Amino acid sequence: MTAPLLEVRGLAKHYPLKHGRVVRAVDGVDLALAPGESLGLVGESGCGKSTVARLVLRLVPPTAGSIRFAGQEIATLSDSALRPLRRHMQIIFQNPHAALNPRRTVFASVAEPLVVQGMAGADLQARVARLLVQVGLPEGFLWRYPHELSGGQKQRVCIARALALEPRLLVLDEPTSALDVSVQAQILEFLQELRARLGLSYLFISHNLAVVRQVCDRVAVMYLGRIVEEGPAEAVFANPRSDYTRTLMAAAFGTGGAPAPQDQGG
Ligand code: ADP
Ligand code: MG
Repeated sequence: MTAPLLEVRGLAKHYPLKHGRVVRAVDGVDLALAPGESLGLVGESGCGKSTVARLVLRLVPPTAGSIRFAGQEIATLSDSALRPLRRHMQIIFQNPHAALNPRRTVFASVAEPLVVQGMAGADLQARVARLLVQVGLPEGFLWRYPHELSGGQKQRVCIARALALEPRLLVLDEPTSALDVSVQAQILEFLQELRARLGLSYLFISHNLAVVRQVCDRVAVMYLGRIVEEGPAEAVFANPRSDYTRTLMAAAFGTGGAPAPQDQGG
């Protein structure tokens, strides 16, 4: 196997509460993600998925464990040492309405990371226009404000901004959960096409098994801060080994298990 782009070992995040109590939000997680691969992280609300996302991106420091990105240990790096690596890993959040500043045009939002890098003038405008085309939006949208866009269009703008610095890893935390069902399907299809086109790696977080099944090569099932099952998506869905995975699948697909992909319709 090629060297993983992201490798997580024994990752933990414990939040201290009052009276000496502790929330073990993430409690010993191992994950590996190859370049160009899409790994689904599934589990019910509160099991620790978003905390894993924040840890992987080093938005919060881990309590314990190792996070290797492109061969480099980042779990204990200082903020200044992390800075040059940050452009290689970007996050897409669930709610594109909250992720965009309502007083900024699409151009200003997408341009921001490039402006920070010192880009300006005609170069900047051409680059932002190309990013917009890359996410399937017309160039004319550059001068729109968020309230003039649909939910799916806003999420595409967020994706364009995330792509501005040409990252290698996208962490997608429930990227379609806030969208209408019909738009969800379009965005999922677009995300698959984008990954193939750019050779991106995805850590794709969702509570929705059908969504993960559609877009992921491999799947890791999370329960109470731990991974209870991990494997190729087809194998896990066809023949789940953990009781918890079977429970999740029964809730999502009924007791007959996951339908074959060609039966899903829509
Ligand atoms: P998920 O994304 O799977 O819904 P989260 O990672 O958001 O789960 O949360 C996992 C657990 O950690 C939950 O019990 C949540 O309440 C708790 N948690 C998350 N962030 C904090 C925090 N900053 N302080 C205390 N507890 C937290
Ligand atoms: Mg979450």
